[in-house]
Amino acid sequence: MPIYEYQCQKCKHVFESIVLGSDRQTPECDKCGSREVVRRISAANTIGASSGSINTSCTPNPSSGFS
Ligand SMILES: [Zn+2]
Repeated sequence: MPIYEYQCQKCKHVFESIVLGSDRQTPECDKCGSREVVRRISAANTIGASSGSINTSCTPNPSSGFS
């Protein structure tokens, strides 16, 4: 069961969400409820290892509509 890590673009909250194969909807931020979240390539062993220097150059524009 894949667990993806997301970061909210509004409040910068990072959270994890289990995503089933048939359900790839973007989850809401569990802190502020925003859907402006980006999925991060995640594994449990990366948590806490990259704070402060996340490369966001390839982050899609969250306001560009549906994806
Ligand atoms: Zn948020």
